Amino acid sequence: MADTIAAVATGASAGGIGVIRISGDNAFDIADKVFKAMDGKKLSSLKGYTAKYGSVYSGGESYDNAVALVFRAPKSYTGENVVELSVHGGIFIVEKTLEEVLLAGARLAQAGEFTKRAFLNGKMDLAQAESVASLISAQGQAQAKASYNLLQGSLSNKISQVLEKLIECSASMAAWVDYPDEEIPDLNESTLKEILGNSKDTLESLIKNYENGAVITQGVDTAIVGKPNAGKSTLMNMLSGQEKSIVTHIEGTTRDVVENSVRLGGLVLHLADTAGIRESDDLVEAIGIKKALEKIESSTLILAVFDSSAPLTDDDRMIMESCKGKKAIAVINKTDLENKLEIQEIEKAFDSLVYISAKNGDGEKELEKTVKDLLGVEEFDDTQPLLANKRQKMCVLNALDSVKQALEGANAGVTYDAINVMIDSAVDELLTLTGKKATQEVVNNIFSRFCVGK
Ligand code: GDP
Repeated sequence: MADTIAAVATGASAGGIGVIRISGDNAFDIADKVFKAMDGKKLSSLKGYTAKYGSVYSGGESYDNAVALVFRAPKSYTGENVVELSVHGGIFIVEKTLEEVLLAGARLAQAGEFTKRAFLNGKMDLAQAESVASLISAQGQAQAKASYNLLQGSLSNKISQVLEKLIECSASMAAWVDYPDEEIPDLNESTLKEILGNSKDTLESLIKNYENGAVITQGVDTAIVGKPNAGKSTLMNMLSGQEKSIVTHIEGTTRDVVENSVRLGGLVLHLADTAGIRESDDLVEAIGIKKALEKIESSTLILAVFDSSAPLTDDDRMIMESCKGKKAIAVINKTDLENKLEIQEIEKAFDSLVYISAKNGDGEKELEKTVKDLLGVEEFDDTQPLLANKRQKMCVLNALDSVKQALEGANAGVTYDAINVMIDSAVDELLTLTGKKATQEVVNNIFSRFCVGK
């Protein structure tokens, strides 16, 4: 018997409506102690998918109007009896209602416990459960779309197809190993190689799409570099639409690395506003510069800002040098002023160049296009399922490894029992991915990263 859990399902700030979700065997009885419908009907007497208007009560007195939604097991998110109480979304009312529900006998849900129950009750597999987490944390359209596809089971379906074939293969092989003298009709060498080859292709395409899609789903670590006063802070403000970094006329004032994520088109850039790169005796400034150089090393994308209203300096040339071999875009700033910059020299050092006036907000669209081109975003196929995280990627990589070994074995004429060991280990990895064979530890770890109420 599942104990009954409850939590606030909506955000932790005031909003129009707040939802308290209750799930478990006693969800209806508990909700009936807190909520009374206008027509006097008990929630426990209602069919699933019914909404009732009424009031919530504390100590016999009503304190807010509310709507109760009733879901009957197994037709609910968790697969259990569920009641969702919608009250006015003030923090006090929402918290109070949760308190009343707990007093009535529910237990406060742990992080991710609703989704964990959905998983344990077979409402979704682990890959889908993980997509719930990415959907909630999606910061951009592309990530949201990819997560939604996953939630719909696109990845799970693909993995199931591979699994089905491998398991079939493995079963026939096991039969062959046990009864080597019998004819095993479904398995011959060419079928085996074909199944392994197809599995390899599918798993490889998942990895490739993950790598192309990582930019979209996880955002891009981006460093903005440039000599002092080139306009880095202003560019960052242009992108974030708010005054996050301090813009001043005094050189070297952006001393630390300020992290900030912004949206550029469908992409999310994790920006670091780096201190101006220049050789400096000043200790604080030098620390900032050290961090900036580290940031260039660790970033996927570099926006190197140049001030077009002045000729190139040694600092600029140092930056050009440090950007070599990196995914870097020369951002020629201050186009609203007269150009004094040796553009040709920059053109030689960078493959991508874009002109902006950060102060006036000109050139954002061009910057967006240049970034997308440079990162190869267009190659990402968003109709294909996308692995949601590193855990899933590792499972697929390990499975791929085993499938490749099995295929090599088959080509080299290795015995079936040896090949079968490799196929079994690929199957294990894929079952871990979907959660059918994931350890308790893995499952707990995944759900502990969810927010409470989900
Ligand atoms: P940082 O040291 O690279 O972060 O440079 P800031 O963003 O602090 O900018 C330095 C100065 O240049 C400030 O006075 C900005 O207002 C000015 N500035 C930045 N971008 C532009 C621009 O596109 N046009 C003009 N005219 N001035 C700019």
